[in-house]
Amino acid sequence: MKGLSAFQPATAADAATDREGWPAMTNDNMIECDVVIIGAGPCGLFAVFELGLLDIRAHLVDILPKVGGQCAELYPEKPIYDIPGFPIVTGQGLVDNLVEQIRPFGPTFHLNQMIEALEPIGTADAPRFRVTTDAGTVFETKCVVVAAGGGSFQPKKPPIPGIEAYEGSSVFYAVRKMEAFRGRDILIVGGGDSALDWTLNLQPIANRVTLMHRRDEFRAAPHSVEQMRALVASGAMDLRFGQVTGLEGEGSALSAAICRDASGETFSIPCNTLLPFFGLTMKLGPIANWGLNLNENLIPADTEKFETNVPGIFAIGDINTYPGKLKLILSGFHEAALAAQKVHRYVYPDKRLTFQYTTSSTSLQKKLGVS
Ligand SMILES: Cc1cc2nc3c(=O)[nH]c(=O)nc-3n(C[C@H](O)[C@H](O)[C@H](O)COP(=O)(O)OP(=O)(O)OC[C@H]3O[C@@H](n4cnc5c(N)ncnc54)[C@H](O)[C@@H]3O)c2cc1C
Repeated sequence: MKGLSAFQPATAADAATDREGWPAMTNDNMIECDVVIIGAGPCGLFAVFELGLLDIRAHLVDILPKVGGQCAELYPEKPIYDIPGFPIVTGQGLVDNLVEQIRPFGPTFHLNQMIEALEPIGTADAPRFRVTTDAGTVFETKCVVVAAGGGSFQPKKPPIPGIEAYEGSSVFYAVRKMEAFRGRDILIVGGGDSALDWTLNLQPIANRVTLMHRRDEFRAAPHSVEQMRALVASGAMDLRFGQVTGLEGEGSALSAAICRDASGETFSIPCNTLLPFFGLTMKLGPIANWGLNLNENLIPADTEKFETNVPGIFAIGDINTYPGKLKLILSGFHEAALAAQKVHRYVYPDKRLTFQYTTSSTSLQKKLGVS
């Protein structure tokens, strides 16, 4: 099974045409559902499993173009030694297994989208929420599980004077829709995987792509670097070394980047689009505006059901806090299991929940597609 990290959908809509029919992704604009999970890190992914066992289908939203949260973004190749039952598993290996484990429950992924707004539209007994992403997707949902880790991954911005004037029209920190870059003169800055991946993806549709990095050493996958060098050698794109120190243009329309190389020499690169890829940083982001109690940027939750101060909103994984909290993946898994029990009460108020083991319950095994 291919890990989701292999997918680089330009938008959630592009992702809907994924190659294997899994995971299901969508960009429908108005969605009624039982539960929205904010954050597709390991804890958000495992919440899909626990909810699925209780017949609750989840929609998962993540600002990143891939699932896996910190495991996939910060340490995909590092071994983890404290996941129960796995003496050793890499960050990406764990994510791939979680993706495989939740496959029977058919969650819908909305990647590349940040949850911006969360407003209550129901009552305490019958909660309901309107949840809105920055891509315009609106969910009306009975429950929300906040599994937002350390907050949303956001791009590190380069310290170029006046760059704000061009943001959103000529300067972009993420590629949401590749088509928007067709025929453009693009300067991509950076030496990591994102810079190299987007160089290779955009080169065929751009008018011209220039990649600029401080030095002739890249942190990206060697295969991508080889492909990039082959394109440079064939004259299909340009590679320059230096740093962007200023921008030229009219209003918000960029016309050139002013650059300086290691020897201090200044040069100009004509371009109408600048894509700086300087890595990501984690910020709490819009969570602070959702009416949830916060304690040092963490969401206090009870330890019986991991519900927040707002009935129907749950917090699991690194984002929550309670006495004795350990920011470990295994803690988040436990929290997901308990939160799911209470979500069931909101989603199926008239149904009694019976505790069952997956080893012995044929009903659970049917849901898992193994009996
Ligand atoms: C280098 C390193 C090594 C580690 N090693 C271990 C280890 O050995 N064992 C262990 O147990 N733990 C380890 N951890 C910690 C572990 O990775 C975290 O505990 C775990 O990732 C938390 O999972 P999570 O699902 O709560 O959040 P995260 O993994 O942080 O995922 C949260 C996701 O939510 C998304 N998000 C946030 N806000 C929004 C929003 N508004 N809209 C949309 N999406 C949003 C983020 O983009 C992110 O993808 C390590 C961490 C690091 C950095």
